[in-house]
Amino acid sequence: MSVPIIEPAADAQGVRLLRPSWAELDYGAVAANLAVAREQVGRATKIYFVCKGDGFGFGAAKVARLAAQAGVDGFCVGSPEEGVTIRRAGIDRDILLFASTLPEDAAQVAALGLTVTIQSRESLHAFINAGVAVDAFLEIDPGFGRFGFLPSQWQAAFAALRDQSTVRLKGVYTHLSSPESEDVTRQQAGVFDAALADARAAGFDNLTTMLASSRVMLAHPHLAYQAVDPGRLLYGALDADWMARAPLRPMLRAVRGRIIHVQEHPAGATLGIGYAEPIRLERGVRIGVVPIGFWDGLNHVPPLGRVLVHGQPARILGRRSFQHTVIDITEIAAARTGSVVTLLGQDGDQSITIDEMAETLRLPVMELIPRLARSLPHVEVKTADPAGNN
Ligand SMILES: *Cc1c(COP(=O)(O)O)cnc(C)c1O
Repeated sequence: MSVPIIEPAADAQGVRLLRPSWAELDYGAVAANLAVAREQVGRATKIYFVCKGDGFGFGAAKVARLAAQAGVDGFCVGSPEEGVTIRRAGIDRDILLFASTLPEDAAQVAALGLTVTIQSRESLHAFINAGVAVDAFLEIDPGFGRFGFLPSQWQAAFAALRDQSTVRLKGVYTHLSSPESEDVTRQQAGVFDAALADARAAGFDNLTTMLASSRVMLAHPHLAYQAVDPGRLLYGALDADWMARAPLRPMLRAVRGRIIHVQEHPAGATLGIGYAEPIRLERGVRIGVVPIGFWDGLNHVPPLGRVLVHGQPARILGRRSFQHTVIDITEIAAARTGSVVTLLGQDGDQSITIDEMAETLRLPVMELIPRLARSLPHVEVKTADPAGNN
């Protein structure tokens, strides 16, 4: 299916794109993907939308508002500042702060009106001693080796929490290391179950229990506790093999720019395009320059792959500069100043997928998408195709 390329005049803030490079976002993807998640987990399970990393680079306040409208139950954030940002954007639901602060700042963090994470004995005592009433989730380490209480530690933590009234324990959560493995996942979920049994034994029988991030939801739907905490699934920002497991819709639809400069270089000219070793051209070459560089979240060093111009592939020449990419448009007669250049997405009947781009640039999809989304101006596109295939 071929869809004409829009040439946006302004970004989402209404600023004219005088530097013509942008990311095209389908904001409807949040509600669509949330509906897929809701279908899977049912009404009774709470969905906490992970909008860390400024909402994966898409804008935490923007995506949080969309998710709230679409009926999400709570939010997870990666920093206190992010929690405050979405609160100020009108989010009145529970906001769980992932571990991100120092024990010495516990009183200040507790005063923000967020639900805090207690991920160690040190953070437990810091929040208790801070003397500021706060809601909290306790984090269990199931074998991830990052944050969370170990089996030898959590009983004392539940006892300490029971014997005080500053910190209100509302939930327990964990994060698994290896959703692609049945065995590891089963074993790690078992660690979490043991922690929950000890919480109940300590008298906590009304806790929100949460374990499943995106890939756990997709690969192990039976591991449903009282809440799930997906991020990437709701942005449609997983690798192709995971995207294929559910009818998910990508939020990042395209990355494009327009050619701002065209130059013909005759055969015999000696050029060091993109800081490359200067070479003498055997044939004439026509180059185009797009104002999008490694500052925009892309790589400097080859391989940089290809772009599409007027529905045809064009090579990227040399290294990518800070703000520019040089492409070879010798074979594309229609290319001129103003032509749209597609780095990601559909152009005519050709397309460059996020997986192709990630493979070329040797970056995981989950790293590439936020890099692009946070760097480039956002332009909204609407899609009528629920699968997001246009
Ligand atoms: C990042 C994160 C998530 C969300 O992970 P996705 O793979 O994006 O779903 C959930 N829980 C924790 C603790 C995280 O750090």
